[in-house]
Amino acid sequence: MSEQLQPARGTRDLIGEDHRRHQHVIDTARRVAARYGLEEWATPIFEDTRVFARSLGDTSDVVMKEMYSFTDRGGDSLTLRPEMTAGVCRALVTNGLTQSLPQKVFYAGPMFRYERPQKGRYRQFHQIGAELLGTAEPLADAEVIACGWDILRELGLAADVVLELNTLGDRPSREAWRTALVEYFTAHRDKLSEDSLTRLERNPLRILDSKDDGDRRVVAGAPLIEGYLTPEAATFYQRLKDYLTRFGVPFVDNPRIVRGLDYYGHTAFEFVTSRLGAQGTVMAGGRYDGLVAEMGGPATPAVGWAAGVERLSMLLTEAPPAPRPVAVVPVGEVAEAAALDVLQALRQGGIRAEMAYRGNLKKRMERANRIGARAAVILGEAEVARGVAQVKDLATGAQAEVPVADLPARLR
Ligand code: ATP
Ligand code: MG
Repeated sequence: MSEQLQPARGTRDLIGEDHRRHQHVIDTARRVAARYGLEEWATPIFEDTRVFARSLGDTSDVVMKEMYSFTDRGGDSLTLRPEMTAGVCRALVTNGLTQSLPQKVFYAGPMFRYERPQKGRYRQFHQIGAELLGTAEPLADAEVIACGWDILRELGLAADVVLELNTLGDRPSREAWRTALVEYFTAHRDKLSEDSLTRLERNPLRILDSKDDGDRRVVAGAPLIEGYLTPEAATFYQRLKDYLTRFGVPFVDNPRIVRGLDYYGHTAFEFVTSRLGAQGTVMAGGRYDGLVAEMGGPATPAVGWAAGVERLSMLLTEAPPAPRPVAVVPVGEVAEAAALDVLQALRQGGIRAEMAYRGNLKKRMERANRIGARAAVILGEAEVARGVAQVKDLATGAQAEVPVADLPARLR
């Protein structure tokens, strides 16, 4: 016997209840996003490697260690998308949409990162996300966050998540802060990890995002941006908070929130939960005014977030129920032929209907129960002759005779 094949490490099959949870998260997000005027975009799952190398910066963890890149048969370097913001910005530019701003975008789909798999961390995972492109006002930040909060609320997770908010300031704020950080981290360089020593050279803000325990102890004493904000940046942050309060979105300040990517400024936030251990961030985002220009477009302000569908699915306390079909149950050969017409009429009438491929009355009724049918439409020769069927409610056991022509309406 040949060896049994397994799913690739860090990937999962979504079947049955797992798939229903997953789809419920996406459907809910899609519905709520539409209320905020977002339109769904679908961009390719793989892109020119430069799309991500440019947008994520060549020092980010994602680019350095996590990308699935390959050379295709034509010699082009391609990468399975590790996130979608870069693709959305690339698409904005290549479709000439920088001429029709703002664009409000929703997306959902698989992402790929070569990570160490663990609970809530996979190599193929799924994100839902929102991007508001072409808006510099803090009202846009508040709106996109409110949209995320509404999705989490609608999923029944309002009590499980906390919005942690921070500002990364404008460029002058960030530069002053960076200088202070470099000074501080240089003084503590003997306690930093190898990776963070590299970050210290190339992008010291990233040290704040390190998951290394030793780094985290050093980070705990690092200077906060608060002390370096320009008045403009401070005002922007205050206005965002005022809008969030007005929208009824609760938040806490967390000066330790930084995004792992270079193009963020001003708003940075995460929705976190204590229910998923180390993988507690379910939704994360911020303002990235520099990215569209990085893709070769005009300077275009933008703000957005992405959320992990697997992590949200795990948090759902109640799985969406399995669908309950109507079982068509013929008794005898004459009825079997007539039952096919009934089956087709029910399906075309919008009703989920099933018929076993074989079996006597007893077997077919057993199967109807096994698949969780809500009702059985029982047809014998006598019923066929009179153009009726017996409809049995499988929850209550109540049975009634119904004209075949009325079945779709009665069962809807
Ligand atoms: P983390 O700090 O957990 O590695 P990240 O900063 O790399 O997260 P983002 O790039 O901001 O994550 O992605 C947004 C969201 O996507 C995360 O908050 C998380 O919910 C989800 N996510 C990211 N990477 C994975 C993964 N490998 N498996 C499952 N979900 C993920
Ligand atoms: Mg990560």
